[in-house]
Amino acid sequence: MDLYNRSLCYAKVGTSNVALAYSNRSACFFHMRMYDEALVDIELAKKANISDHLIPKLEHCEQESRTLRRIQKTPSKRPCQLSYESDDDFPCMVDVIKIKYNQELGRHLIATRNIPAGETILLEDSYVMAREDDRLVCHTCYRGNANFIACEHCPDAIFCSTYCKNTNPTHKWECDTFFEMVEIDMKFHIRAILIAIDTFANVADLMQFVDHTLLEDSQNLPTSMHNPLSKYHFFFKLQKSEPKSSEVLLDISTLYRSMIELPKIASVFNTLRKQRFLMHLVAHHFFVASNNSIGNDSNTTIANIHSLLSHSCAPNTATYAAGNQRFSITIRPIRKGQPLYMNYLHSIDDKPLNIRQAELKSGWGFTCKCENCVAGDKPINIKHMMTDPCTRFLLINYSIEENYPIVLETCLKLLKKYKNQRWTIEMQIVAGILARIYKQMFSF
Ligand SMILES: [Zn+2]
Ligand SMILES: [Zn+2]
Ligand SMILES: [Zn+2]
Repeated sequence: MDLYNRSLCYAKVGTSNVALAYSNRSACFFHMRMYDEALVDIELAKKANISDHLIPKLEHCEQESRTLRRIQKTPSKRPCQLSYESDDDFPCMVDVIKIKYNQELGRHLIATRNIPAGETILLEDSYVMAREDDRLVCHTCYRGNANFIACEHCPDAIFCSTYCKNTNPTHKWECDTFFEMVEIDMKFHIRAILIAIDTFANVADLMQFVDHTLLEDSQNLPTSMHNPLSKYHFFFKLQKSEPKSSEVLLDISTLYRSMIELPKIASVFNTLRKQRFLMHLVAHHFFVASNNSIGNDSNTTIANIHSLLSHSCAPNTATYAAGNQRFSITIRPIRKGQPLYMNYLHSIDDKPLNIRQAELKSGWGFTCKCENCVAGDKPINIKHMMTDPCTRFLLINYSIEENYPIVLETCLKLLKKYKNQRWTIEMQIVAGILARIYKQMFSF
């Protein structure tokens, strides 16, 4: 499938190679029992003038797909939804949480009523995202296995729909340049700037916005997030990290020099004043990203509201990604007024206190005072969740598709049963399974 998608990207527009890529891909969908997608590709192949000798094969596949689609069981995936009404001002979060500010946590999220474990409380599109290989998924929404169409001007972008093709905010700047060849971190930073530029009609408007925003109280966030401008405003005001050493200036300068090599960027930042502004903007974004990006070696992302989740080594929410969306579920009951916490160290290792503290200090510049850190590394003298028969059931069954509903129920039962226990690695594993099942059972 990936190779046929690649061939589609390289096929010259208007040639029979385009039709061949669609027709071969329809065969892949057929074997994957994705008959709707197979039929769409057959239609695309026909419209793209498939060679006559391939028509009988295509028609046979079409007939088979129609028959098999009729007898196929409907897929069990349900759309992922928030567990409560969505907030009027911030539609990606439920209306039972609120943004708050205090000295200790800075800006953070709190529950405005008791929320049980297992509820979906945030469902948010990433504001900026970069992936190691963008070329195998939709360039806009990052979904895979779709009826991709290719960019006509470069071999680097595919889109799952005309909608995604027309609404992508950055590809017009990246198209037919070196962009896809740079490493992921740089890709991420450049893309964040491109989104900023694309939000405004011209560079002068962007400069004016930045000038005004810098005069505002730094703690005040926009009161809603409905359009590209308010989303950028929110992103711009996320907590920045402190420069750790003068070496970051080298990173920022390298970033700036790479950006200005994009021909379209050079054409709009065409005066010394605009270029100096761009240097400062690159630096501002760099420090926002250092403090708020989540990711690993293959993808990096920032989702605005998710950036407000505070850290705890004994978290009450778990955050996961599917495509360009991030979602957060409660993994322990949260009382009214309690802050929402995720684990920034998000690994399943049982790290000792001093290692956790060192990682948090160097990564985010704070000393963790969560219940686990305050209790120190004293051994936990309580019944081990690992010996619970429910946990054993989970570990055997969590990957078996037909058992997903009962696995989900078991996870919730365990998290409820041990809700007053100190957070342990076992609970982290159960929470991880819970989120994994959510990802498998729901479509995003
Ligand atoms: Zn898409
Ligand atoms: Zn392109
Ligand atoms: Zn801690």
